Amino acid sequence: MKITIFGSGYVGLVTGACFAEVGNDVLCVDIDEEKISRLKQGEIPIYEPGLEDMAVDNAREGRLRFTSDPAEGVAFGLFQFIAVGTPPDEDGSADLRHVLSVAKTIGSNMEDYRIIVDKSTVPVGTADLVSEQVKSAMEERGVSIDYDVVSNPEFLKEGDAISDFMKPERIIVGVDNPRTKELLRNLYAPFNRSHERFIAMDVRSAELTKYAANAMLATKISFMNEIANIAERVGADVEAVRHGIGSDSRIGFSFIYPGVGYGGSCFPKDVQALEKTAVKYGYDARILQAVEAVNHDQKVSLVDKMKGHFGNELKGKTIALWGLAFKPNTDDMREAPSRRVIEELWAAGASVRAYDPVAMDEARRIYGERADLKLVETSEDALKGADALAVVTEWRVFRSPDFEVIKQELSSPVIFDGRNIYNPDLMEQLGITYYSIGRIPRG
Ligand code: NAD
Repeated sequence: MKITIFGSGYVGLVTGACFAEVGNDVLCVDIDEEKISRLKQGEIPIYEPGLEDMAVDNAREGRLRFTSDPAEGVAFGLFQFIAVGTPPDEDGSADLRHVLSVAKTIGSNMEDYRIIVDKSTVPVGTADLVSEQVKSAMEERGVSIDYDVVSNPEFLKEGDAISDFMKPERIIVGVDNPRTKELLRNLYAPFNRSHERFIAMDVRSAELTKYAANAMLATKISFMNEIANIAERVGADVEAVRHGIGSDSRIGFSFIYPGVGYGGSCFPKDVQALEKTAVKYGYDARILQAVEAVNHDQKVSLVDKMKGHFGNELKGKTIALWGLAFKPNTDDMREAPSRRVIEELWAAGASVRAYDPVAMDEARRIYGERADLKLVETSEDALKGADALAVVTEWRVFRSPDFEVIKQELSSPVIFDGRNIYNPDLMEQLGITYYSIGRIPRG
């Protein structure tokens, strides 16, 4: 099959590489010319495990190509995937500018039947807007060519994106035309072999499914953070509570880890956008508002603990910060809790020595050179001369550090663990003052 993908970011590149991997011919289009020229040279601009090898192999075999010429993209694929960003607008609703601009490009250039596939996360009703945009662009040039618009939201997780795409738990397709449905079923057949994962539905339900999934996951996180905040106040241990409730199969263990809040390019914006969609249709989404409010406060909970420890005086203090990416195995720092922690520390007059296994360049891009932020090469270097260690992202390499080195390097041995990765009993034995989430401080 010939496939064009508009948008060569996390979703577009992974989708392109995986479709090429199973034998399709894929052309990835992006308006960012620098990105395209790097991709043409085999340089993958994002960190995603396994992506570089897969993309380079398929590019060498000629099945994966890149262009910044949108007309070439429209001419190429029967399937025209839209995988561009849908960032939050000023009021929190999804900004559809990029999606509709691709729709216009397709309508302005198409010469034959095309299946336009919305893979970006877009509010209910967007497929209709895409369709109108394509139609009006064709009308402007006085042509009328058949096309279908399909919703195919993406559920991959950054850090596991390749395996999520190759072995998806479900493939959601919102489609009205039965013939198009069969073409999509065939397109996805290589990823749908062991059991039926292809779930076809109407377009609006598919669009809402993506938001509902992300809102549910964000709700689990905020719920557990709320329980953690209660646990701290009543003298309970949230990790025991987590164990206790997770063993109920109706609840389960996944996504009930307390921490410093959710971040990333999806949950924050998607919860907000769904809330705005509800408002637009006359519904007040109170659970979603609470999920956001809890998350907003949770991101500063670690800094509040530091203020409590240092007698509300963080001015002049240096904090070693481990973990900048919004979660392990990615370099993505969009809406990362680390950013809020760093910015709150600066506001309180503290400075930061930060280390992350892969997000250092991204941090440099975001913050540049500043006297109150040292981006260092190793986790140990971050500790040098610092007054405390804050763990913000639960990278595996932070799980079992040399605590003697931590004790030696910090001016006083105190750890603020935003991910509950250390054992409070061990910290006590080692003589480290230990703050975590939803557990009584030790030491
Ligand atoms: P991204 O910001 O990494 O990439 C978007 C790309 O689109 C950029 O390279 C940008 O230059 C390009 N672009 C913008 N306008 C364009 C145009 N007119 N033509 C061609 N390219 C254009 O975004 P992402 O993280 O890949 O997310 C894309 C969409 O997928 C969003 O709607 C997002 O919510 C959704 N999504 C993301 C994830 C994730 O984990 N990142 C998971 C599922 C769904």
